Amino acid sequence: MTLLLDVRTLSKSYAERRAVDGVSFQVQAGQTVGLIGPNGAGKSTTVSMLCGLLRPDAGSVELDGVAIGAGPSEVKRKIGYVPQDLALYEALSARENLRLFAALYGIKGAPLKARCDAVLALVNLSERGADKVITFSGGMKRRLNIAAALMHDPQLLILDEPTVGVDPQSRNAIFDTLEQLKAMGRSLIYTSHYMEEVERLADHIVIIDHGKVLADESPAALYRRLPSQAALRIDLAEAAPPSLRAGIAALAGVSAVSADAGGLDVLLGASADALPVMAWLHSQGCRPLHFATARTKLEDIFLNLTGRSLRD
Ligand code: ADP
Repeated sequence: MTLLLDVRTLSKSYAERRAVDGVSFQVQAGQTVGLIGPNGAGKSTTVSMLCGLLRPDAGSVELDGVAIGAGPSEVKRKIGYVPQDLALYEALSARENLRLFAALYGIKGAPLKARCDAVLALVNLSERGADKVITFSGGMKRRLNIAAALMHDPQLLILDEPTVGVDPQSRNAIFDTLEQLKAMGRSLIYTSHYMEEVERLADHIVIIDHGKVLADESPAALYRRLPSQAALRIDLAEAAPPSLRAGIAALAGVSAVSADAGGLDVLLGASADALPVMAWLHSQGCRPLHFATARTKLEDIFLNLTGRSLRD
């Protein structure tokens, strides 16, 4: 792994309020990092400092070993930033908007046309390049915003809540785009308060709350931190006799069993699997009608870390 972005003990206060409080994490080349936390956690403030838009009170950000400061610099060319607020001219066409962004980076001539074509294809708007932005849906505007941030072909794309207020179709289109960028070896930082979105894309998850990092791990490692529990549902043709229930409760790895008229709910401990339960039912001549497992959701990790739900 090659280190791309090194974020060290960033802090930022607005007047009396400390929005970001000693945030550190790293992004490896080609990695997608999900920055997750509830509203007000400090995600936007953090990413604004990562792209040099906001000066930290303390701490540093290095990209490829070079410090990102305020003002224009070569190192900032390696970053593309998609802010929450859209920065598009509604009266201009999609391509005209892209040309304005390209001008900021000195892209012109044949490369300009090639980049416009490439980024419009990436965000699935090739057919709409000549149309005015005012005719676009909210989701299409957001995709054009992503295209704009990609005009200079940055190594690292930073997206601040890219799917907030977006229709499901555009949301999927955004994910497709991000998956393509990932396949092209680009690095991504993606903020969200939806764990399931981050889970789909991220190789690494940084959870922040009240401006502090609570966890900085792979999704698999986060899952391992969740307390026990896979849930089994076993539907039976008739109510389970007490002996069946007691027998399951006595099996190694079973932490709880409850019964109702239609069957059994079994809670398994962290390292337990469902096979001994099924084997025991089988040994008792019991044939379940239906059997299902559900694993603890990654969403629950936030509850586990803070005692609050992510979207309270
Ligand atoms: P998030 O992106 O996770 O929702 P923000 O970084 O936007 O969080 O905000 C972190 C905290 O800083 C919040 O308490 C917010 O109210 C405060 N904050 C953000 N921007 C400003 C600002 N420009 N002036 C004052 N307070 C701000």
